[in-house]
Amino acid sequence: MMPADPKLIEAIILACLERNPIDFRKVDDAEVKKVQTAIKRATTEKGTGFRYPVTRKHFLCGCLDFTEHLPEEHLIVAYGYRYGNTTDIERIHHVAGEQRRVAVPEYIRSEIRRHHFHRSDAEVVVFHNHPRTGHEPEWFYTLKSLLQDLPIASNDDRKELQHHAFNAVGLFRQFFGQGQVLFYLGESGFVKEFRLPPLLPFLDQLNRLSVQQVVK
Ligand SMILES: [Zn+2]
Repeated sequence: MMPADPKLIEAIILACLERNPIDFRKVDDAEVKKVQTAIKRATTEKGTGFRYPVTRKHFLCGCLDFTEHLPEEHLIVAYGYRYGNTTDIERIHHVAGEQRRVAVPEYIRSEIRRHHFHRSDAEVVVFHNHPRTGHEPEWFYTLKSLLQDLPIASNDDRKELQHHAFNAVGLFRQFFGQGQVLFYLGESGFVKEFRLPPLLPFLDQLNRLSVQQVVK
């Protein structure tokens, strides 16, 4: 049976509202390999730089290929500059986590903020994966098949997004189409962007407002 957890229902509704997974059909394999090599080396605080920038699509394809068959979550963060509708990525950080979680270390948290704030075209691309080991409950896979295997960002994932993308600078940059902090999730062979903050606190606020009105 499916548990009626409001957080889960929230996760599904928001996943359905967001755009389709990324189409990786026209990628350059050499660029993707370059990204994979860099990911392996980027586990120190210093991270790894690219001699020539790679595009966001190649970066995300490299992240998917690197994490697709791993049993644990990985966080891979790329720093670069907005270029047309892509990001020119110059360097990356990589952290390996556990089966169901990957924590964001303090040095990465502060680097995301520092890089994003330092120039109006500065962009950060944050990728993490959800391993699907086949050990999740059956209702979960039934649900996933109804959603055509779409990646489903968790409530914690969206809280992280809210923290980095919905501050004053982040909102201003979104409005003017400048450099942003973008969040992507790799799951079941797909990479999907998630850009909506958690819905529950908002619903809670609405609820409280309507209760106040009834009391009046
Ligand atoms: Zn997650």
